[in-house]
Amino acid sequence: MNPETLLSYDSFLNQKDKNENSVSNLVTEYLENISKRKSLNAFLEVFKEETISSAKIIDKKIKEKKENSLAGFVIAVKDIISIKGKKLTCSSKILEKFDSLYDATVIKRLKEADAILIGKTNCDEFAMGSSGENSAFGPTLHPLDESKVPGGSSSGSAVAVASKCSLGSLGTDTGGSIRQPAGFCGIVGLKPTYGRVSRFGLVAFASSFDQIGTFTNNARDAARILEVIAGHDPLDSTSSTIPVPKYLNRMNGDLKGLKIGLPKEYFEESLNPEIKNCINSKIEFLKSKGVTFVEVSLPHTEYTIPTYYILTTAEASSNLARYDGARYGFRSEKNDSMENMFANSRSEGFGREVKRRIMLGTYVLSAGYYDAYYKKAQQVRRLIQNDFLDVFKKVDCLLTPISPTTAFSIGEKINDPLQMYLSDIYTVSVNIAGLPGISIPAGKDKNNLPIGLQLIGKHFDELTLLKIADVCEQ
Ligand code: GLN
Repeated sequence: MNPETLLSYDSFLNQKDKNENSVSNLVTEYLENISKRKSLNAFLEVFKEETISSAKIIDKKIKEKKENSLAGFVIAVKDIISIKGKKLTCSSKILEKFDSLYDATVIKRLKEADAILIGKTNCDEFAMGSSGENSAFGPTLHPLDESKVPGGSSSGSAVAVASKCSLGSLGTDTGGSIRQPAGFCGIVGLKPTYGRVSRFGLVAFASSFDQIGTFTNNARDAARILEVIAGHDPLDSTSSTIPVPKYLNRMNGDLKGLKIGLPKEYFEESLNPEIKNCINSKIEFLKSKGVTFVEVSLPHTEYTIPTYYILTTAEASSNLARYDGARYGFRSEKNDSMENMFANSRSEGFGREVKRRIMLGTYVLSAGYYDAYYKKAQQVRRLIQNDFLDVFKKVDCLLTPISPTTAFSIGEKINDPLQMYLSDIYTVSVNIAGLPGISIPAGKDKNNLPIGLQLIGKHFDELTLLKIADVCEQ
């Protein structure tokens, strides 16, 4: 089996019975691909020995017909999710030497389902970024054009799948970090509803926004992984007790009667015409499948970027207070007093973007500014949520662009944080409202770079998104 052509777990299942050592053969090929594509800098660590030994165990299980639902599914993991005994750097110098003491709940569930964890992927430091350039270990490059960014923050996880170095991967999405890089790389990125997947073992960036999700080549593979990782976890009090549907069984290709909203604020004049045309042709395709479209309005859209960057930086400044040189990871050599030790460890350990966010977040929470910024942003968060609840009375889901541009050049936005933040315009509202979102391939631009589109669903209705995504692949 060749990872270059193996694009779904379904096709793996169809081929595996012809060969006794199919999983072992497959992982050898993936490991080879990883070393061939080393220049992309997608992986921070590859678990070569464990991958080979677990493949053998799973081949044996398959032979004995004792395998579980993801047997042989090769998955890469963003290096912000704990795997027991492995490094957990969050692509930061401050955690460079830190080892995880336990498995995140998603990892425990993947292992129980017989998935194979092939390695840890590069990302923006503490998942803060939209380009993959904010890693302490160097940027990740776009697999189709190494002068471009692959998107971020889950840059390595997107690239691992797009460059055929793993069949699927886990990323995290606080404001678009799964959907945007999936769009840039031409694959499927699913950000589940807040509370659908346990965050236990995920290093916190902005706890009321963070959610773990998947990168795959298609919607069926996303559904397959989601069935395993979703569901209540007593170790995460924000994880929901709502039962997890059997997504795969219910993806029947029937979209008749579905009503999709097109938020007018997301299709303004300024939208790149190539992206607009590409999305329009998908809309026409879906109409031919019995879907109807209506224009809707999300009137508070203009406040989404400021609301997001106030609330997430506030949460980040609090979450990242724990990295002080005393309890975790890196400690500065310049530590002649306790205060200097704290200050120097943080100054030397964090990168520029993380420090910028800690300062912004501390500012918006400080006495005298709290009411004007943090409290106001919380109130606007409610208004943005209400916009979505209102439109979902009229439509089943929404269809929007994923990003104002396709993959941009390395270095193009890194010195202009405001431009970088503005590139998240279509994705952050989903996290503000805690909704599920999926990014699916919609076509290519004139430079042959992928264009993605986004579907946004009602709370806990990942199924509708997966169904539409599945039909769009036909
Ligand atoms: N680009 C956004 C940010 O920098 C999203 C990050 C994310 O989803 N982790 O905050």
